[in-house]
Amino acid sequence: MKTSERMEEIRLQLDEINLEILGLLSRRAELVQEIGELKKQKGTERFDPIREKEMLDNLVEANPGPFDDNTVRHLFKQIFQASLGLMEEEKKALLVSRKKQAQDTVIEINGVRIGGGQPVIIAGPCSVETREQMDTVGAGLQMQGIKLLRGGAYKPRTSPYDFQGLGKKGLELIRQTADKYGMAVISEIVSPSDIEMSLDYVDVIQIGARNMQNFELLKEAGNVRKPVLLKRGMSATIEELLFAAEYIVSRGNERVILCERGIRTYEKATRNTLDISAVPILKQESHLPVIVDITHSTGRKDIMFPIAKAALAVGADGLIVEVHPEPSVALSDAKQQMDIPEFNRFMKGLQESGYLQGVSP
Ligand code: PEP
Ligand code: MN
Repeated sequence: MKTSERMEEIRLQLDEINLEILGLLSRRAELVQEIGELKKQKGTERFDPIREKEMLDNLVEANPGPFDDNTVRHLFKQIFQASLGLMEEEKKALLVSRKKQAQDTVIEINGVRIGGGQPVIIAGPCSVETREQMDTVGAGLQMQGIKLLRGGAYKPRTSPYDFQGLGKKGLELIRQTADKYGMAVISEIVSPSDIEMSLDYVDVIQIGARNMQNFELLKEAGNVRKPVLLKRGMSATIEELLFAAEYIVSRGNERVILCERGIRTYEKATRNTLDISAVPILKQESHLPVIVDITHSTGRKDIMFPIAKAALAVGADGLIVEVHPEPSVALSDAKQQMDIPEFNRFMKGLQESGYLQGVSP
């Protein structure tokens, strides 16, 4: 037989052996899964180091070569770990993940469905400032059919000397405005001890970027039964955002809306860098609705319209936009808020471009 023919023959045999090994590995994995189930019923630990050592010793004892004992140990250790990993994988899947729930979570607030295929607009000023300011903005937003009113009463400001928000008085003002104009209230709560009190005023509890990993706040928000708008921390990974959402959902509050609001990078042209890819990734990984804050991510009014279209094009379930009757005198984020005529033009543009009808990415 020629060398090339013999090589071909060996290759065919190797292919066959590979398939046999794969078949055996799969059968082994199924048995491991079954034993895992039995252990679960009995309440015993899945990983059994004594049993594993016994199996390795038996294999080394039976080792016919040409592999040395260490290699045999190493190879089988990998197989054992992969089987254990299979069980861990099932256990590890987060409640917020698509692995646990395939269909989208739809959150209904004030007759508006978030995550139901039709994008929503959440609008309002950065901070609640005065009754007049809220009334003017409420009236302007109502003209555009806005049903979800945002406005901060507790403002987590970088400088302690900047306006800190009106606190409870701010919550009262935004509630009154929302009631007058038939809207729901979304407002940030910064302290775990204020969650309970806020239930009388807000329809959605906002947890801001700076508090995304305030675990006590997350736990408290998980203990109540109000939807939570959870913003991504400016230095948080997508995975960390999902874990933060898990804190809330694992306590029984299943209505969480995720929000991409830009992350901190070296780029100075925008206030933050909008991580547009986070939107389809979050939509793939999680069943929770995902919205984009186009105001805080860009900090620039001149690019808000194309950014809004981009967010909706990649599958965002909605947008947050800051609108103030007189942005130049706003007590916070004066540069980035739209005034009412600007917001009207923005909405007209979105309607005309068809993006508000819901597009599939
Ligand atoms: C806000 O939405 O009011 C806010 C402070 O945003 P962020 O937490 O994303 O900075
Ligand atoms: Mn703001």
